[in-house]
Amino acid sequence: LPVLGHALAGGAVAVYTRPTYPPRAVAWWPPLLVVLSYVPDVASQAAMIGGASHDVRHVTHSVTFVAAFSLMTAWPIARLLGLTSRNALSITLFVTLLHVLMDMLQGTIRRPFWPVSGWAAPEWLEIIPRDPIGEALLFLVLFALVAGAAYVRRIADVARGRDEREPLEPRSPRGHRLAARIAVLFTLLSAGATHQLRRERGEQFERVQALMNQRRYAEALAAADDADRWPYPARPGRLDYVRAEALAALGRREEAETYYLRSIDADRDYFWSVADLAVNYASWDKPVEWRRARLAPWIARLKTRFADHERLDHVLAKIERKLNSSREKVSG
Ligand SMILES: [Zn+2]
Repeated sequence: LPVLGHALAGGAVAVYTRPTYPPRAVAWWPPLLVVLSYVPDVASQAAMIGGASHDVRHVTHSVTFVAAFSLMTAWPIARLLGLTSRNALSITLFVTLLHVLMDMLQGTIRRPFWPVSGWAAPEWLEIIPRDPIGEALLFLVLFALVAGAAYVRRIADVARGRDEREPLEPRSPRGHRLAARIAVLFTLLSAGATHQLRRERGEQFERVQALMNQRRYAEALAAADDADRWPYPARPGRLDYVRAEALAALGRREEAETYYLRSIDADRDYFWSVADLAVNYASWDKPVEWRRARLAPWIARLKTRFADHERLDHVLAKIERKLNSSREKVSG
């Protein structure tokens, strides 16, 4: 989730679309749009505080959810700001859909059409940098471009004598202006704090991987629990995959199976969780027939879904080796 990115995107939309009337809408437009830009994250956070698992963010980051949210809030927002319900609906829908799109472009959300369609965003769509500094720079540039465009448009309107802003814009009520500024400040502060938290989680995730490389599996498991918290630094399912790897290395194969399946469930396009689940089954301390039966659907999946993967042959050979070597062990 581009955390600062969401604030800047909401701000850019606000700058470009700011209404000239009525005064309440003028005062509340920027904070409202910045706050609406966070709706999917705020909703999943609230649901998690209420006890939902973190998978709930797949629900709150769906087109279905933001459409329902926009429909439900259109009327109160319209009343609050003195807009038409239709205007309130379209701006809410636009900003919340933008959030879903941005998260998808950063690869933190894969299935935006839940529950209607299981379509998953392909990896090449991930064009927003995951690195927080790169992300912040990108959105600062985009914000400056949009603000510049809005400024140029206004200058052009003034030159053509069509600027209705100055004469028509009545002073917003003082209390409203102050409250609106406080709301922007509060949102930006919490966005900044979340941004910082995500950097920390990113470092924790790197630590998990470093511990795995050093074969310190028990420590890696503990570190994975630290990293696997909001605002989730890793791609969906990756921390479960690392946990599965650590458990398999520790010989806890049944627990590893659970985490491999969770990882596959979160990201069905990740080759290694399927490949290593199959290797895990091949290594279980069970009769060869039992293992082959367990393996069959996963091998079929590897051969169909990942037919072009460069490491497929290597993995299939490894599975055969595991099956044969433990057979010798059992018979010998
Ligand atoms: Zn998000």
